[in-house]
Amino acid sequence: ERLLAGNLHREDEELEVSLRPRRLAEYIGQEHVKETLSIFIQAARERGEALDHVLLYGPPGLGKTTLAGIIAHELGVSLRVTSGPALERAGDLAAILTNLQPRDVLFIDEVHRLPRQVEEILYPAMEDFALDIILGKGPGARSIRLDLPPFTLVGATTRAGLLSSPLRDRFGISSRLEFYRLEELEQIILRAATILQVGIEPEGAREIACRARGTPRVANRLLKRVRDYAEVRAGGIITREVAREALELLQVDSLGLDSSDRRLLLTLIKKFNGGPVGLETLAAAISEEPDTIEDVYEPFLLQHGFIQRTPRGRMATPRAYEHLGIARLDHLF
Ligand code: ADP
Repeated sequence: ERLLAGNLHREDEELEVSLRPRRLAEYIGQEHVKETLSIFIQAARERGEALDHVLLYGPPGLGKTTLAGIIAHELGVSLRVTSGPALERAGDLAAILTNLQPRDVLFIDEVHRLPRQVEEILYPAMEDFALDIILGKGPGARSIRLDLPPFTLVGATTRAGLLSSPLRDRFGISSRLEFYRLEELEQIILRAATILQVGIEPEGAREIACRARGTPRVANRLLKRVRDYAEVRAGGIITREVAREALELLQVDSLGLDSSDRRLLLTLIKKFNGGPVGLETLAAAISEEPDTIEDVYEPFLLQHGFIQRTPRGRMATPRAYEHLGIARLDHLF
């Protein structure tokens, strides 16, 4: 299994839940998002109204689910969690909506993957807190409108552009989460170490932070693996040296690239001569889904300048050659 993938595996779910901040004040980084949300949350509370619908977008593992929980907690209401692919039929969503309490938060992860007929139920629900139900079939069919309690939809997606525009337009608040800075990741790691009761030195936290590809989920996951190493091999304390040894063993390199990233870059360079190569072709060559490449691998590789997107496909940059220690031969031809 991929160590650095931002997406979630069951074994780590428990860890995630235990490490999730519950209050906005405990949520590290994303200052702009926090400030925006805190103002709207306070206003909604003072008016006793449901908070406007919130769209959170950005790569996996940056804290979207965590924020949904915090929003509910700060509003003093319950959180209901589901996801686009889990809502297969219109009735699935209708059942959830009719069971909400006034001002509750409904979190829909991967909201861009809602089936069309489910998405259509959502439009009047978001806009008018109403559910349109069709009774009967054919010419005798009629529709009745049921009132719903006012609620807040928090939708999460990896890229805002994946949403249909009628859905996107119905979110009053839309926030993009950014990759975290080094110091923020260090704080996240130190906080997690306290909760997990792991001994760690600040330099150890820094070493892990450097390789966490800007992503709290990756930082926490690396911390857990490094802790195991420290316990078995090094008396339990995560120093810089211990962190470095453990991460080397895990084949996470100094910039946070793991073996899957390197495989992608190597394939791009060796098999396709550095590109450009189309997404589908590249995906097939490394036996991955194109979506996984776009959502999980690419945001980080693009941000750090290892690959480039061009109209003709993906290209490896000079930096990728350099990082992998491969000489570029193109100037010889
Ligand atoms: P997403 O929903 O965007 O995939 P999550 O909300 O599940 O990401 O976050 C993954 C993990 O990272 C959480 O369990 C939480 O422990 C940690 N995390 C995310 N954002 C923060 C943050 N700002 N401060 C502290 N921990 C965070």
